[in-house]
Amino acid sequence: MVDKKYVYLFREGSAGMKNLLGGKGANLAEMTNIGLSVPQGFTITTEACLEYYEEGEQLPEGLWEQILPAIRDVEDQSGKKFGDPQNPLLVSVRSGARISMPGMMDTILNLGLNPDTANGVSEATGNPRFAHDCYRRFIQMFGDVVLGISSHKFENILEDVKDKQGVRYDSELSPESLQELVLEFKKLVKQETGVPFPDDPYEQLRQAITAVFKSWNNHRAIVYRKANGIPDSYGTAVNVQSMVFGNMGNDSGTGVAFTRNPSTGERHLYGEYLMNAQGEDVVAGIRTPQPIDSLQSENPAIYQQFCDIAALLENHYRNMQDIEFTIEKGRLYILQTRNGKCTASAAIRIAVELCQEGLITKEEAVERIDPQQLDKLLHRRIDDQAKLDVIATGLPASPGAASGKIVFDADDAQRLGEDGQKVILVGTETTPDDIHGMLAAQGILTSRGGMTSHAAVVARHMGKPAVCGCDALKINLAEKTMTVNDIVYTESSEITIDGATGQVIRGSVPMKDPELSDEFQTILKWADEIRTMQVMANADNPPDAAKSREFGAQGIGLCRTEHMFMDPARLPIVQKMILAQTLPEREAALAELLPMQESDFYGILKAMQGLKVTIRLLDPPLHEFLPDGEELAMEIQKLKLTADLNDSKVQEAIKSKESLLKKVRALQEMNPMLGHRGCRLAITFPEIYAMQNRAIFQAAARLVKEGVDVYPYVKIPLVIHHKELEILRQQADEIAQEVMKEQGVTINYKVGTMIETPRAALTADEIAPYADFFSFGTNDLTQTVLGFSRDDAEGKFLPDYINAKVLEVNPFAVLDRDGVGRIMKTCVGAGRKANPDIKIGICGEHGGDPASIAFCQEINLDYVSCSPFRVPIARLAAAQAALKVKSK
Ligand code: PEP
Ligand code: MG
Repeated sequence: MVDKKYVYLFREGSAGMKNLLGGKGANLAEMTNIGLSVPQGFTITTEACLEYYEEGEQLPEGLWEQILPAIRDVEDQSGKKFGDPQNPLLVSVRSGARISMPGMMDTILNLGLNPDTANGVSEATGNPRFAHDCYRRFIQMFGDVVLGISSHKFENILEDVKDKQGVRYDSELSPESLQELVLEFKKLVKQETGVPFPDDPYEQLRQAITAVFKSWNNHRAIVYRKANGIPDSYGTAVNVQSMVFGNMGNDSGTGVAFTRNPSTGERHLYGEYLMNAQGEDVVAGIRTPQPIDSLQSENPAIYQQFCDIAALLENHYRNMQDIEFTIEKGRLYILQTRNGKCTASAAIRIAVELCQEGLITKEEAVERIDPQQLDKLLHRRIDDQAKLDVIATGLPASPGAASGKIVFDADDAQRLGEDGQKVILVGTETTPDDIHGMLAAQGILTSRGGMTSHAAVVARHMGKPAVCGCDALKINLAEKTMTVNDIVYTESSEITIDGATGQVIRGSVPMKDPELSDEFQTILKWADEIRTMQVMANADNPPDAAKSREFGAQGIGLCRTEHMFMDPARLPIVQKMILAQTLPEREAALAELLPMQESDFYGILKAMQGLKVTIRLLDPPLHEFLPDGEELAMEIQKLKLTADLNDSKVQEAIKSKESLLKKVRALQEMNPMLGHRGCRLAITFPEIYAMQNRAIFQAAARLVKEGVDVYPYVKIPLVIHHKELEILRQQADEIAQEVMKEQGVTINYKVGTMIETPRAALTADEIAPYADFFSFGTNDLTQTVLGFSRDDAEGKFLPDYINAKVLEVNPFAVLDRDGVGRIMKTCVGAGRKANPDIKIGICGEHGGDPASIAFCQEINLDYVSCSPFRVPIARLAAAQAALKVKSK
């Protein structure tokens, strides 16, 4: 059997071997092979790390036997020898997983030093200070990382020696003091571990490699992996590389530079360096590094060499690079290069410019942008320079930042908002009754509720910032106060919320406007050329419709009509309609609502002229429009106890409240999510949808007469049976015909259905003949397929399901492919077979989520629809999804 290869010299690897050699190892190999001056070394594979764990934390058999010849090779190349007192080779030992985990695992520098080799370095360099400084740093690092001795114990000794010598900075220590430090450090190691510090370089190396393997499972690495979705099964590689020194005099130095500016994306070297220093001096901040531009005057030859290498690396990797370098006695070495991390706006500019420079294709430019990152650019945000007094942190529920005075009541928010004041609506949670306050507020802050609570969903939909579930807030609605850490905030207090980070900040802070740069528009234009699915918006009013258009929506995929019923001016009429005892009474109330609805639809259809507008008829249970039963009962009780019962007005008030209470109780349901809602309402009360249909077609007819191009699509919610759609489609068709005849116009309309129940999806072949389109309402479909009530699940047990890894992510945020997705796929197949012309899309919240959009592409949907502010994200994600499917 051929022994497994655990060790690769840099020249034996390549960029494509990331999984085996880790990102850093693969890059060092690649740089070596393109001829750059890289200090030589070798990489121990991630497989060796995994076997280390499989074998109960033992180095795999045969590993050491492969390390020894690799060291010989490095010795030959460097002309130095490991452990040789005359000309010693020193190495660094670093971790490097296949995905970069900055700072999470351990590094050891200057390995190979002992009293003899330290003297050797001192003589070879003629710089005893440097040699002993390296040695004491090595003992400290090795002591901390490998032997587990707390760093501060070394620091205390260092402080004592500095005091003794009467100096302030490490760099002022004399060679003698440094030698003394070495002895003191070694004494500490013996004290702490019971054994002397290893002097044998090979023993040092064995222990260091073991420590790096172990650091894969240190606490911070585990936490980082969990937060970033990196599997535990990857393991880390170990890179052993010969050391070069930036601290060997004024002809040496070290630095880090990006090939482009990581904040703005500008094509100009960006970074800093420090002469006569090692990397940690830069980090320690004892001396201020110089901007990379000054290297041009300080050492023009090296600067030019670096510029050439930076250009070479960018061309080679076809991406902005983040490069670490060291100059040792006038010779430039490249220690590391990787794709640079940058802000969202820089990422866009860089991708666009790299494409324009001919380095990457449009497709690659589109693929490189993280759609989620765009979110930040589409909202106002806190100026990066601002100083923040953060008083609490909740969930980042809806991006954007806003400042304003605290208000605790939706009516107050509306009143002050109309008065031109900026307010933040604060509460334990929000309900549909608060909609007017949410509309008037700059942002929403709640102490309870998750990322998909009412406040979060509605705020995202409105494009307003929200922080939810901020449980450090103690809210007293009766007294209108909010207490955090014993400090009481009242209605006059001003706060800022940052919906991107979840921070709640005292006072108002400077903000930055959204950045829809030219490059942003360019990348979206390219995305539009690539994608095959249409992107529509969920919008209920003309300003949202206009916003959607501005963001590139190709129509409205969901206009929810219940929000229109919640308007405080209309609510009493809606209540009259619900409380009507007879059909004529109900029809009278509906007649009052008709012109109002007509004007709603007129505004939206006009704002979206030329594009389709899908209007969903009334969906939620009627009791949502009525007052709360408990509160009503208390009001009645209070009247009975305190008012003059002989007063006929009081009697009248009690009577009317009692009749309202009776109706409220009658409409109360055990489980409203599965109750009398959606098209079930219209089967019982056809006159409600009749009014809405009439309002839609009358509005459309008026616009047609005005010469406006309109495409109203009527959408029926919560269908379970083809018969429902058959009846309700017929009603819509009849009213459309009537209106067209009355007005003498033709309206291009369509009628379709939401698919929100398993039965509808499974009987798609029976339903499709009655539908021009299907629209997956995956909010409800997820509830009905999983049998979870969303509010209960998110508020109670869903976090436990995710912690216990029963579910990986919240299925209300990211589509559950295996369950909900499978049903959708069946539905698409059956629906298209029965009605080949049918158009199928999605309008649940998943329509704005990139991973869910990718699934929609896989099952061949015609469109996705999402809230206006997610439209650009969906445009990009749809293009990426199309590219992914194409590449399969
Ligand atoms: C849905 O259920 O996915 C949907 C869009 O409808 P709503 O969220 O209004 O119930
Ligand atoms: Mg629904």
